[in-house]
Amino acid sequence: MHDFSRRKFLKVAGISGAAAATGIGCAPTNGVRPLEKAHVVVVGGGSGGATTAKYLKKFGPDVNVTLIEPNATYHTCYGSNWVLGGMVDMDFIAQTYDSLRENWGINVVQDKVVGVDADARRVRLEGGDNVSYDKLVMSPGIDFRYDAVPGITEADAERIPHAWKAGEQTRILRSQLEAMPNGGVFVMVAPPNPFRCPPGPYERVSLIAHYFKQEKPRSKIIILDTKDGFSKQGLFEEGWAQHYGDMIEWRPASDGGLAEEVDVNEMTVVTEAGFERVKADVLNFIPAQRAGRIAHDAGLTNNNGWVPVHQSSFKSEMDDNIYVLGDASIAGAMPKSGHSANTQGKIVATAIIQELSGRDPVTPSSVNTCYSLVTPDHAVSVAAVYRYKDGAMTGVEGAGGVSPMGASERFRAQEARYTRAWYAGITNDIWG
Ligand SMILES: Cc1cc2nc3c(=O)[nH]c(=O)nc-3n(C[C@H](O)[C@H](O)[C@H](O)COP(=O)(O)OP(=O)(O)OC[C@H]3O[C@@H](n4cnc5c(N)ncnc54)[C@H](O)[C@@H]3O)c2cc1C
Repeated sequence: MHDFSRRKFLKVAGISGAAAATGIGCAPTNGVRPLEKAHVVVVGGGSGGATTAKYLKKFGPDVNVTLIEPNATYHTCYGSNWVLGGMVDMDFIAQTYDSLRENWGINVVQDKVVGVDADARRVRLEGGDNVSYDKLVMSPGIDFRYDAVPGITEADAERIPHAWKAGEQTRILRSQLEAMPNGGVFVMVAPPNPFRCPPGPYERVSLIAHYFKQEKPRSKIIILDTKDGFSKQGLFEEGWAQHYGDMIEWRPASDGGLAEEVDVNEMTVVTEAGFERVKADVLNFIPAQRAGRIAHDAGLTNNNGWVPVHQSSFKSEMDDNIYVLGDASIAGAMPKSGHSANTQGKIVATAIIQELSGRDPVTPSSVNTCYSLVTPDHAVSVAAVYRYKDGAMTGVEGAGGVSPMGASERFRAQEARYTRAWYAGITNDIWG
């Protein structure tokens, strides 16, 4: 609908190279201003950022929104375990920014933010431009802390993929699984809390087991865990026993699961208990996590590497004009999930439009559902409702719930259909 030529876009968005560096550009203002003069910059076109950009335009069509994202195509992490299990291909999880650009009039800039000047209210792009803002929204996702386990660094991620950011990493892990011989051993090192998608590692081993069962039935899966329990554990273990016999072995931290060191050349993990060496044919090391790097560089993170926010609006505790949501933020009882990031995006969009138009803030409530496939026809889920209470997003007692243990095949198959419908619905809500 809106055709933003580059020149017009630069004018609207307040972007310039040397000019902005010397203070020329869209001058920031304090307080209320007409929406059509306000410029909101959103960093990151993933679940949280793309939702915020779209809902800013839904709630305040006149506001100028610029979305900055380095990749032309975003691959959802949700569904990436389906790729690993051979259920769908990479195209299935690919999302583009065409609709946000063409149907919603959002200025989508393919670049990376490399600096935030909060005093001048502008961000610096890798490509050299500066972009001024009235309000800045950041949803940069996660980065990895490879320092937590010796022996492995980020440079090893091609040989030992984490596949915890979807895209090339997913492709690498899938091709390693395809090349693995029947009878091989897949080892996953599962990350410590808090991390992106609490049930994600366990859905991953489920669908890899599904693939092995069909193509390489003599293979084995070992999960070395940094924890002594995990999300929907009873439901996963019930499903594993039902579908995969003893193919999957989960070792908790207190019983030989804690990785002490990784020997990259030998594809071996040394575990704490008795210094056992666990040899892998395919090794999926998922590192400890923290907020995406730009949040740290902008001085928005705490000592643990996550971003404290006022959870009624997801406004940063460090800066009144910056909002941080999604996995990078500390969001009370809400898990780090795509669905959480999506609902938080609507909270942020509401808060910004209310503030820019001089209206009172709204007390938010929110929701999250995490579906996990144990097989393509067997899913389990957890759902919760949250309300802002006493300074934090808090679970509402009696709302939501977890799939029952011992449910029928029909029930699990119905949840598997809901899982696919959830994917179609949420991706359309975010990027459609
Ligand atoms: C295997 C797996 C399965 C999952 N399954 C589910 C599921 O079933 N349901 C669910 O709800 N969630 C699921 N998740 C979790 C979900 O993917 C994340 O919680 C969600 O994507 C978080 O959204 P976000 O906006 O915080 O980060 P992201 O979606 O990762 O988006 C961050 C974006 O910011 C961009 N970016 C980073 N730095 C910069 C910068 N400096 N400048 C510009 N852009 C930048 C990145 O390129 C990226 O596009 C899963 C995750 C994994 C790993």
